[in-house]
Amino acid sequence: MTKHVTIVEDDPDVRALLARSMGAEGYRVTALETGTDIEGVISADPVDLVILDIGLPGIDGLTITQQIRRHSDVAIIIVSGRGDLADRVVGLEIGADDYVTKPFEPREIQARVRCVLRRGRREGDAVPQAADDAHQRFSFGNWVLDATAQSLHGAEGHAVSLTSGEFKLLETMVTRANRVLTRDQLMDACYGNHSPSFDRSIDVCIGRLRRKLQDDPRNPAIIRTIRNGGYMFAARVTRQAYKN
Ligand code: CA
Repeated sequence: MTKHVTIVEDDPDVRALLARSMGAEGYRVTALETGTDIEGVISADPVDLVILDIGLPGIDGLTITQQIRRHSDVAIIIVSGRGDLADRVVGLEIGADDYVTKPFEPREIQARVRCVLRRGRREGDAVPQAADDAHQRFSFGNWVLDATAQSLHGAEGHAVSLTSGEFKLLETMVTRANRVLTRDQLMDACYGNHSPSFDRSIDVCIGRLRRKLQDDPRNPAIIRTIRNGGYMFAARVTRQAYKN
């Protein structure tokens, strides 16, 4: 099915450039000038990815990201002005999947959109499974990560919502438990060839995961920070395969 990309950008030239770039990739495009109606658009017509400018009149892109994340895991790429490093970090922290910096080339945004969409296999878009295809499950502490269903559940069975980037990072760490992983290795695993150019995005994503796993950042038991090294998944992991 054709993917639906929604663009929120107040600058008409950038909006037109984004709409053209996405149209050229074969996506169905909805372009909005402000984010006021974004939640209406998402609930009326399922959206696969939102490209969201940070600097918008009325509600800014970061606030919109927060609003969307309250009830949706739709992929979000934020667009920031040059030099707004803090905004980019905050954007990733509150749940954006990636960002691009203005000015950007159509090819760059196209590659990032492809990458984020590939990473996030979402509901209704899952790769069809053969009947005998076993799910992979990883248990650690009070948590169960289902790598096939891309879900995380707590001890009482409650589901914890993860963005595609968080899922990928957690899966990468869980499958390489008790090994030190450098930020570069984690970046490669999560972003492939489209790594954001600064290290902090991994730290930010780790911070988010710790919060979701209720891992005390000052004394983490699950994801440890290794001085001058990177991170290590320190919990004991049990791997199970099960049939649907
Ligand atoms: Ca703007």
